[in-house]
Amino acid sequence: MPTDIEIAQAATLQKILPLAQRTLDLPEEALSPYGHYKAKLGLEHLPALSGRKNGHLILVTAISPTPPGEGKTTTTVGLGDGLNHIGKKAMICLREPSLGPCFGMKGGAAGGGRAQIVPMEDINLHFTGDFHAIALANNLLAALIDNHIHHGNALGIDVRRISWRRVVDMNDRALRDITVALGGPGNGYPRQDGFDIVVASEVMAILCLATSLEDLKRRLGNIVIGSTADKRPVTARELKADGAMAALLKDALAPNLVQTLEGNLAFVHGGPFANIAHGCNSVIATQTALKLADYVVTEAGFGADLGAEKFMDIKCRKAGLQPSCAVIVATVRALKYHGGADAKKPGSDTLQALEIGLANLGRHIENVHQHYGLPAIVSINRFDADTAEEIALIEAYCQARGVRCVLATHWAEGGAGAAELARAVVAQCEQGGACAASLYEDALPLADKIRAIASKVYRAGEVVFEPKADAQLQDWQNAGWGQLPVCIAKTQYSFSSDASLRGAPEGHVLRVREVRLAAGAEFVVAICGDIMTMPGLPKVPSAERIDVDAQGRISGLF
Ligand code: ADP
Ligand code: MG
Repeated sequence: MPTDIEIAQAATLQKILPLAQRTLDLPEEALSPYGHYKAKLGLEHLPALSGRKNGHLILVTAISPTPPGEGKTTTTVGLGDGLNHIGKKAMICLREPSLGPCFGMKGGAAGGGRAQIVPMEDINLHFTGDFHAIALANNLLAALIDNHIHHGNALGIDVRRISWRRVVDMNDRALRDITVALGGPGNGYPRQDGFDIVVASEVMAILCLATSLEDLKRRLGNIVIGSTADKRPVTARELKADGAMAALLKDALAPNLVQTLEGNLAFVHGGPFANIAHGCNSVIATQTALKLADYVVTEAGFGADLGAEKFMDIKCRKAGLQPSCAVIVATVRALKYHGGADAKKPGSDTLQALEIGLANLGRHIENVHQHYGLPAIVSINRFDADTAEEIALIEAYCQARGVRCVLATHWAEGGAGAAELARAVVAQCEQGGACAASLYEDALPLADKIRAIASKVYRAGEVVFEPKADAQLQDWQNAGWGQLPVCIAKTQYSFSSDASLRGAPEGHVLRVREVRLAAGAEFVVAICGDIMTMPGLPKVPSAERIDVDAQGRISGLF
């Protein structure tokens, strides 16, 4: 099998404008081309779609993954192609990849094998410039903060209490903790600062949850950048930053359209981190796709304990979206890992490990169904090394639980390999039966929302709050932010906050180390365990293999 980039470069792409006009029933002027194969759908054309009926929304989520990922993006693309393959009108909604993992370890995020979105080099590198615009809007606010202090600090911002950080779309550990404004009075007041990666910026989460330019501006204005010495929160609006930030983001808010290897359309828009943010593509892209297609397939980051939870409790709750079903991606290798097999020594894997590991899948199925009211379909993402015996074991496990399980081979075969999965999804959508729900009411206090997720979704026995986090939550509750949903940041490798607790652990302790207010994105982040908002590069970063030849042909991306 050729590599992802070899497959992508061998594909014959269609010009995006005629392709989109032919399939989407849009006026010609609705799309602005960015080159031949990428386009943005103008925001001013969205209201005209509001009268159209919504299609079915299908969430692609997964069991607790291993580090390389179990194939959610690949399955999202494969299922979108599979639905079109069986004659349905389907679109795909995905996040834009971050340059950090691209040059680091995980590679790009445009799918894999014969289930990819293209042009993959563009999508993985600068794409339509959205991330650059987001970085600039974020850093404009940072510059305005330091400038305000330099010119007399009329708002009385306490330089020790500034929580707004600068961002860059790169894994660069040297920037995690820095000192700015050195060099004398002309350069401002020295203070400790730091950089996060762009996908961790609150501006990214805001762009993804905003429903219009006005809503974007309102949310940007609500960003709390820090506080005064007497702990009064200071907002971006008080710094008069919201207008200029929104102006920088005007085009970034318009969804990007690209195609799959099979010429089916995908919105690829926004890319918030799945840990300290909610890990879903933009609300605007999803809502628009629902007006343009009968089936919309979308992915939420990490396993279902994080991705599906945030998709339902943050994105769908806020945007009023009603998914019809969830596809849970499972792989033999990750299930074996959850059963105790050594991920680095395939020889030590046994059927017994797979059997034990199935508990992880069972827990995710139960959660999606019981807590979110979504019928689940299990999709086995087939890898070459999987045996018929192993596949049969997973199928039998699902059958015993009355859950539809399909073997999907889109990675090797494209949409045809996901035709059976597509038929299962269509049957489920037509049958109905979804009654999409959130886990908690808006009115539940912030600390209780965290407890609800911990006990019901993670099956923790206890939640322990660091005293500072506890007091902080109480302050925000009193200040009127108690209605916000919570966004939990924890490891994706386990239901617990301890990555080494595999399978389906119960009764563990969830420690809330720190809480952060994202008043513009409108959620409260609860940090459990160590999380990184500025990742580092590995010893041998992928960047070392990436190259471009004299003809401009890029190699080494994956
Ligand atoms: P996720 O979205 O769950 O993180 P991806 O879909 O991005 O995972 O897949 C992660 C990597 O695994 C990609 O490089 C992809 O090409 C590869 N991959 C996915 N499915 C398969 C498969 N069935 N066989 C081999 N490689 C696969
Ligand atoms: Mg993915």
